[in-house]
Amino acid sequence: MKKWFAAVLLVALVLTGCGPKQPEAHEAQLFAMDTLMSLRIWGDEALVTQTEDTLRSLEALLSATAEDSDIARLNRDGTAELQPQTADLLQQALDCAARTGGAFDPTVYPLVCLWGFPSGKYHIPTEAELTGALAHTGVQHLQLDGAAAALDAGCSVDLGGIAKGYAAEQCAHQLEETGAQAAMLSLGGNVQTVGSKPDGTAWQVGIADPKDPSSAIAVVRFTGSKALVTSGDYQRYFEQDGVRYHHILDPQTGRPVQNGLRSVTILADSGTLADGLSTALFVMGLERATEFWRASSDFEAVFITEDGTICATEGAAALLTDCTFTELTR
Ligand code: AMP
Ligand code: MG
Repeated sequence: MKKWFAAVLLVALVLTGCGPKQPEAHEAQLFAMDTLMSLRIWGDEALVTQTEDTLRSLEALLSATAEDSDIARLNRDGTAELQPQTADLLQQALDCAARTGGAFDPTVYPLVCLWGFPSGKYHIPTEAELTGALAHTGVQHLQLDGAAAALDAGCSVDLGGIAKGYAAEQCAHQLEETGAQAAMLSLGGNVQTVGSKPDGTAWQVGIADPKDPSSAIAVVRFTGSKALVTSGDYQRYFEQDGVRYHHILDPQTGRPVQNGLRSVTILADSGTLADGLSTALFVMGLERATEFWRASSDFEAVFITEDGTICATEGAAALLTDCTFTELTR
């Protein structure tokens, strides 16, 4: 009788795949923060709704274009009492600006608007217009004291270069706290993984080919929770008379950055840091960005230049597959 029971149990285990059942992955897509987002979450289905809600509520706080967001109120009124998350991100944006010598600048909004990016009514500014907007750009025009923010007249804030990374990081923390087994969140050029894939394989994230952004020029393979954020000149731009004007502006000149780089991908534990630095290192250019990396210990980077060369810092090089590249050493 006992033997018979054991045999039945064994068959049952074989039929159910021998061992703990792999959790199901739930997927969703949404449009938020001006970008298409896709979510893949292993665990309870309610975690998808929870993540969507978090993304939408952060958009409602942080977007410069959403009516009545904290940032829109600050830009309109010149002062605002910020919600804790907005104040937290604005402080991190200021820290990023200080750390990168102003290559990342959360006060570039007058310039971003002058070029017509938020409205889609693109315009190539005159020298006089650029000089006017540059006079209203710079972190010296922004004061943040706890939750109280204030701007000089004519100045405005844009967290578009860092908000998606922050949102991904916030969702990742929430997913960890609420028992998700694993997740991959892809928010535009921002990828955030949570935990390791339940089937035991590595995460594989493609880096877009700037010449053909729908295909990957390289693949990054890694396990565990990580943020991988790309800034590129192909992500948002307009063309006039055969010239491409893209959305990452040099705060010194007020013009789209042109330094031979086409994209910068940052790998880091923090999504906020990765997003801020992807924009900043794009502004710096390969040489200054490599020096910046040599003096840092909290991120790795992959650069793609105009001629299609891929340069990877040591730690990133160890994870890169499916491409040939130049390794940058310390
Ligand atoms: P990203 O795709 O993360 O590099 O962010 C680009 C967005 O950040 C642009 O669409 C602008 O809204 C904003 N931005 C442009 N130039 C800068 C800059 N130098 N520093 C901070 N934000 C910027
Ligand atoms: Mg960024």
